[in-house]
Amino acid sequence: MKPYASLKSILAEFYPLHRTLASDDHDKTLEIIGAYMPASSNYQIETYAPLTPAWTWQVPERYVVHEAYLETEDGERVVDFKNNPLHIVSYSLPVDKTLSFEELQPHLYFNEKRPHAIPWVFKYYERDWGFCLPKNQFDKLSRNKKYRAVIKSEFITDPKQGFKIATALIHPEGGANPDAGEIIVQAHTCHPMQANDDGAGVVSAIELAQRLAKNPLPTGSMSVRFWFGAETIGTIVYLSQNENLIPNLRGGIFLEMTGNQNKIAWHHTRQHTHLLDRVTKHVLQNVTHDERDFAAAPANDERVINGPGVNVPCISINRWHYDEYHTTDDNLDIIHEEMLVGAAQTAEDIIRIYATNYTPKRTFRGPVFLSGNGLWVDWRENWALNRAIEKIMMRFEGEHTVFDIAEQVGLDYWIVREYVEKFRAKGFVVPLPIPFEGDAE
Ligand SMILES: [Zn+2]
Repeated sequence: MKPYASLKSILAEFYPLHRTLASDDHDKTLEIIGAYMPASSNYQIETYAPLTPAWTWQVPERYVVHEAYLETEDGERVVDFKNNPLHIVSYSLPVDKTLSFEELQPHLYFNEKRPHAIPWVFKYYERDWGFCLPKNQFDKLSRNKKYRAVIKSEFITDPKQGFKIATALIHPEGGANPDAGEIIVQAHTCHPMQANDDGAGVVSAIELAQRLAKNPLPTGSMSVRFWFGAETIGTIVYLSQNENLIPNLRGGIFLEMTGNQNKIAWHHTRQHTHLLDRVTKHVLQNVTHDERDFAAAPANDERVINGPGVNVPCISINRWHYDEYHTTDDNLDIIHEEMLVGAAQTAEDIIRIYATNYTPKRTFRGPVFLSGNGLWVDWRENWALNRAIEKIMMRFEGEHTVFDIAEQVGLDYWIVREYVEKFRAKGFVVPLPIPFEGDAE
């Protein structure tokens, strides 16, 4: 693992690249991310052959831009892809045409609200071509001149130059517990030369992975799967080609737009009141935050993970809203290290509870002989826990998770978990894993 000065410095390495669905710069981005992921996380980059069916979609072709520019008929450059990858509509078709301003205008895009900025526009599936430029520049274009539009682009279907997705897996102390399954953490990587959306979520995820590698979850916990790839289509391709992984998934966290100066926003799961929502609510109780419904804007890959036919409960953590969104103003100037780290902290706090939680099921009959088994709690040492012993023991019928028990008796999760673990060590309870609640097929 490469050492790093800050999360922002990692972001600075891949932020300016022409990252799009399948592209050389997207591959480069996945390599850069891999260099900073923990050595123990088994980071892997997988390649999927273009045009392979993926549920109702298909794997995208690789997009290569050799050259792209717009110039006046007398050879004056208006915009050049070389200067900024946002100057062309992502996945633009090849073109080489001389047009009047009227003919050109439907292919030009700008942002009225941010007249100095270049907007990001993508047409992955409509297949058209276009150029993006600041509104101020658009206004100054001569209406009487002719223009030459040149985009030398290629769509490559060679299976060896396919669509790439990266994953990593961090196991708890002592290795994977197949019964406990996995929680998945996702961040997308396909927004060319933009920092908050979408590089910020990636570096927050790297920070989270580092923390979970340095200080692993206790034995028996869920494993944490990290996923990096193109938004929406990446998750569709990954899950459709790895359906066997779905029943392992007990929950998901989507991380994005974590670097701007704004409070945390939490988007509920589609189930809305799932255990994962209740854990998140608990973690955020003392943090100023926004709370939103499932798939409220900005909706992302949680619509896949928690969508039809998969339905694994997935929350989203972000710092939306920000005005620079999908323009060249979404750059390193709006990224704050403490915001990136803060989002990683929130995700870590949620995972440390959710992934270590289980349902204790009683094996004993009659009240447990506490003092004879080293389970009595001295009221002088922990008065509150002493008062809660009976209530905790009455909740070992396999209906309540440790987290629920802690909430019901009004004690800290970790105090209750440590106490229940003592019953488990004695064989008085067995841990039932958090069940798979998605759609298996
Ligand atoms: Zn976006």
